[in-house]
Amino acid sequence: MVGRPLQKIPCESFTRSSNYTVQCKCKGKLMKSGKFRCKFHGGASTGATSFEGKIKAYKNLKQFKNYSEEQLREWIKNKLEKSSSS
Ligand SMILES: [Zn+2]
Repeated sequence: MVGRPLQKIPCESFTRSSNYTVQCKCKGKLMKSGKFRCKFHGGASTGATSFEGKIKAYKNLKQFKNYSEEQLREWIKNKLEKSSSS
């Protein structure tokens, strides 16, 4: 186990191979539901959250190669509005 094993909070899910009787031994991440889940049980990264981080991430994509920062900003705003309304 990499990191600080003494302060590790394990994932609260159960392994499928044990027919849901043995608890997962992976490092857990606190989810919105208040439970700890590892990267195999739905606790993976959800991507960039801040606006600056999103711009930074999208800039690296091939399809946004020719976009300026303002165009990207507008595109992300449109995308956020669409996802929040539906
Ligand atoms: Zn797990």
